[in-house]
Amino acid sequence: MHLSTKILIGLGLGVLAGLGSGAEGLPFMKAWIAPFGSIFLNLIKMIIVPLVFASLIVGVSGLGDARKIGRIGTKTIAYYLGTTAFAIVLGLALGTLVQPGLGLTMPGGEVKAAAKAAPPLMKVIVDIFPSNPLDSMLKANMLQIIVFALFLGGGIAVAGEKGQPAYKFFDALAEACYAVVGMIMKFAPIGVFALIAPVVAANGPSVLLPLLKVIICVYLGCFLHAAVVYGSMLKFIGNYSPVEFFKNILPAQLVAFSTCSSSATLPVNMECVQKMGVSKEVSSFVLPLGATINMDGTALYQGVCALFVAQIYGIDLTSAQMMTIILTGTLASIGTAGVPGAGLIMLTLVLQSVGLPLEGVALVAGIDRVLDMPRTTVNITGDAVVAYLVDKSEAKTA
Ligand code: ASP
Repeated sequence: MHLSTKILIGLGLGVLAGLGSGAEGLPFMKAWIAPFGSIFLNLIKMIIVPLVFASLIVGVSGLGDARKIGRIGTKTIAYYLGTTAFAIVLGLALGTLVQPGLGLTMPGGEVKAAAKAAPPLMKVIVDIFPSNPLDSMLKANMLQIIVFALFLGGGIAVAGEKGQPAYKFFDALAEACYAVVGMIMKFAPIGVFALIAPVVAANGPSVLLPLLKVIICVYLGCFLHAAVVYGSMLKFIGNYSPVEFFKNILPAQLVAFSTCSSSATLPVNMECVQKMGVSKEVSSFVLPLGATINMDGTALYQGVCALFVAQIYGIDLTSAQMMTIILTGTLASIGTAGVPGAGLIMLTLVLQSVGLPLEGVALVAGIDRVLDMPRTTVNITGDAVVAYLVDKSEAKTA
């Protein structure tokens, strides 16, 4: 049986088990099922830092000349920013059409403190540059690791003949990490089952119903963004069958859906994308970057939630405010870490930018995990699409 079929079965069984157990079975789930999910997550996290570090160094030093790095970098970032801005527009459009906040008013007494406030934008930018790369690795700060790997990879290339042993070492390390990912993925069907069952048990129908319209908006938006936007990009720019693409990317999507973490999905995403024929050179550059800075699903969710909050407070957003949301949302999604729930924290930044009440975050927080699943899936799908398109255009240039 194919691995993605097995993972799909794991996911299906997990949902059924969660529904069957309901809230009563939650203590049992937490004690005996969830730990297997944690083991799976830990295993993936174990390999992320060495994998990203080694593969990015190999990717950059393998590219060789600075012009090529610049060209690939520019294309990648342009795709990332463009698709993200589009995703928020889609989120805003759906929020306007479906009006998820209609009929709900904020229950004043129940407002809890909003989630942690997001850091200011300038600090996000300064923090990209590590002062101590070992510390970045200890804390698994992906953006800082990326920056260090870019420099070190560039340095190895510039060192020429003398840099070769370092290149060979990291190349060997990257290969070994890919092999470890293959081993961990054998455990994925069980891991996915164990991750999803407690979530379904905790978020039974009764929790979801009041906010059903928000959920529908986000799921619908994610589906449309993937099917229509990515589908047409693949077909018209990449000349690649979307059906074929989605078939190949399914294992990564399922891992993203159940882990709610782009970072944790990165190793699997790399494997899937390389199976599509994308070169290691491009995938090891584009994907780690994307897992950290490209979050279309998160951006879309922020668009929907901003409108939702505005609607429950009876606030009409002007078109200038919508523009601000698009801009801050795009930047906020860059600063969003690829870990569960990070998007919720950055939502405060978006709300703040147009003066919407931050208490609205508390309402969304209750169902955030359920919204995190599709948005993370879209986040990593977007990375894979861009990796494919950049690789294709590089192949033409070469
Ligand atoms: N969980 C998302 C991710 O890892 C980030 C978010 O919370 O929006 O891609």
